[in-house]
Amino acid sequence: MALIVHKYGGTSMGSTERIKNVAARVAKWHDAGHRIVVVPSAMSGETNRLIGLAKEIMSQPDPRELDMIASTGEQVSVGLLAMALLARGKDAVSYTGWQVGIKTDSAFTKARIQSIDDSRVRADLDAGKIVIITGFQGVDDEGNISTLGRGGSDTSAVAIAAALKADECLIYTDVDGVYTTDPRVVSEARRLSKITFEEMLELASLGSKVLQTRSVEFAGNYRVPTRVLSSLTDPLMSLEEEANSGTLISFEEESNMEQAVISGIAFHRDEAKITVLGVPDKPGVAFHILGPISEANIEVDMIIQNQSVDGKTDFTFTVSRNDYQRAMGVLEGVKEEIGASKILGDAKVSKVSAVGVGMRSHVGVASKMFRTLSEEGINIMMISTSEIKISVLIDEKYM
Ligand code: ASP
Ligand code: MG
Repeated sequence: MALIVHKYGGTSMGSTERIKNVAARVAKWHDAGHRIVVVPSAMSGETNRLIGLAKEIMSQPDPRELDMIASTGEQVSVGLLAMALLARGKDAVSYTGWQVGIKTDSAFTKARIQSIDDSRVRADLDAGKIVIITGFQGVDDEGNISTLGRGGSDTSAVAIAAALKADECLIYTDVDGVYTTDPRVVSEARRLSKITFEEMLELASLGSKVLQTRSVEFAGNYRVPTRVLSSLTDPLMSLEEEANSGTLISFEEESNMEQAVISGIAFHRDEAKITVLGVPDKPGVAFHILGPISEANIEVDMIIQNQSVDGKTDFTFTVSRNDYQRAMGVLEGVKEEIGASKILGDAKVSKVSAVGVGMRSHVGVASKMFRTLSEEGINIMMISTSEIKISVLIDEKYM
């Protein structure tokens, strides 16, 4: 008998029919003697609809009020799922984030979980109940409702699993696991049965949208065994088969010789590149260029500074395409001050990254990647690397 947290995404909760399927699956696990906590997302499209309503009233919605509205999608989901279980004769109870003490900071629309009070949930589990908790939301110190950012239910589920010291967190979604790359782009992509937490962290932050990045950080920090698996299979399939399906995020690097050097290839289409030309090469250049960008809350990804010629240098960095216009505006504002001769931008670039812990022990991975791109006549604009990743920036037409 184990304590298991199930998380179901919006597609899995997309209609009352699907919610009944989720109930059937959850009931199967409970019948097998496990203690089950379920964390569902809002029904698919619901969070977008709620945000859309807010924007009809206020084009830049007030963040606190936006969270008040956006958090309601999950409240509907938990109630419906609890009813679907009750209708099957199962004892189930649903809670919102504040009812089970999911405390966050006050960064509305992107709040971070600070603590979870597990006492109420434990008491219910001890009484044999299935406990259903809203994903995506919590409450700050002043009692304001907060949300964790888009896709935040993944993080709720893993954080709840960590707080309860669950044996496993099962993330049920509309794909059957983590793939070597996006199968919609590359038909030869295959599912990985296992991936290390570090690789998953890189893939998630590099644009694979299977899990919210922060949920992977939580899984890593609290060592929560987490599995990504399909919710679209027959809910009554054998429990044994289901428990071994999907992709397990593991914490051990296998010393297995046959382990692939590269586990996955991630990509980000929506990048933009900005080059600041002819700035004086002296201490503080990077700070004076990137300081105002960071003050504007714009995240910078890849950075290069060129060799200086006659005391002047060029400085290039990338931002997400959403932030491109704003970043250009910020730089135009400080252009004089930083002594730049020109600011150039290119919003039609994409980033491709190869990820694998095997890179630590294998040389030549980068050169193989560069050769492959060269053979296709693809120019590399920027390169960045870490111990287990190589990223290149290319023209979006080659994505
Ligand atoms: N419902 C929220 C969203 O659409 C949270 C989630 O689904 O994870 O972003
Ligand atoms: Mg999601």
